[in-house]
Amino acid sequence: VKILAIESSCDDTGAAVIVDGKVLSNHIANQKVHEQYGGVVPELASRAHQENIVPVVDIALQTAGVKREELSAIAFTQSPGLIGSLLVGSCFAKSMAMALDIPLIGVHHMQAHVLANFIDDPKPDFPFLCLTVSGGHTQIVLCESPLKMRVIGETLDDAAGEAFDKSAKILGLPYPGGPLIDKYAKTGNPTRFKFPEPKIPGLNFSFSGLKTAILYFLQQQDPAFIVENMPDICASIQHRIISILLNKVIKAAEETGIRDVAIAGGVSANSGLRQALAEYGERYGWRTFIPKFEYCTDNAGMIAITAYYKYLAGDFVGLDAVPTARAAF
Ligand code: ATP
Ligand code: FE
Repeated sequence: VKILAIESSCDDTGAAVIVDGKVLSNHIANQKVHEQYGGVVPELASRAHQENIVPVVDIALQTAGVKREELSAIAFTQSPGLIGSLLVGSCFAKSMAMALDIPLIGVHHMQAHVLANFIDDPKPDFPFLCLTVSGGHTQIVLCESPLKMRVIGETLDDAAGEAFDKSAKILGLPYPGGPLIDKYAKTGNPTRFKFPEPKIPGLNFSFSGLKTAILYFLQQQDPAFIVENMPDICASIQHRIISILLNKVIKAAEETGIRDVAIAGGVSANSGLRQALAEYGERYGWRTFIPKFEYCTDNAGMIAITAYYKYLAGDFVGLDAVPTARAAF
């Protein structure tokens, strides 16, 4: 089974080829145009996808050593995401599936983030819990099988990635600030400044209070103080975001009795979170799983592995499949 998978939900154009469940290529073109605006501009993202998609797909096929005519199916990200961006990937995938007369597979982007944990070994056993933390979502997902998963907790306001990016913005760091906070935090003291942990019932999250607390804290400081203490401030912010996330995972593990715990999504690239998950795993007796770095942030490899499971299950969509900006799975 040879599948070409396309990811175009936000500002990165990705293509990957998976052969019999092994990802052989995973290529991505990042869009630089958004940096000057401090965030993704949807209309510019769609245009950049149009420019990038043909070369990105060509490179993915070449790297994998797979010819178009050998493909068994074409997969694409159907939802959620920016509608203009999703339309470019879905139209391209449909055209290619039609021209080659092969089936089409629609993939849910958040389900794919979770299944990024199945690209390499070791893989979690079912059932397992996945903390999916990305730019638009923060979820605890209970996974019963590759295609059977449900959200048992999620954020009521900002996503964890937004908490990182908005904190960075308040600190005057460029977009996207998450990786920069990670970098500064490496040399900082995580317990120097105390930011509050919200009291949200159940397995849900909230990050808007933290953002406000950081804003008020910074407004009281001298600009020079902020610059001088950037590592300690970043480490303290990161420490709080991580504890908010992992305290809910502890609760979910207790309530469900599940001992296999994975993380996924762009924020799972955070070195502090990766390290903390491993430490919590030791302490609570979990087996922990983290995708390889390139499979944490948006990529087509995760779309490809999800498409592989869908192919095996005979789960295809027609040429009339429409992408949607929001969708549950
Ligand atoms: P979604 O998957 O919810 O649709 P998205 O696809 O835009 O959102 P991802 O690409 O999965 O999001 O993740 C991007 C987010 O990850 C950004 O908010 C970015 O700041 C954050 N991020 C990436 N690397 C790090 C890091 N090392 N530390 C903290 N945050 C990070
Ligand atoms: Fe994503």
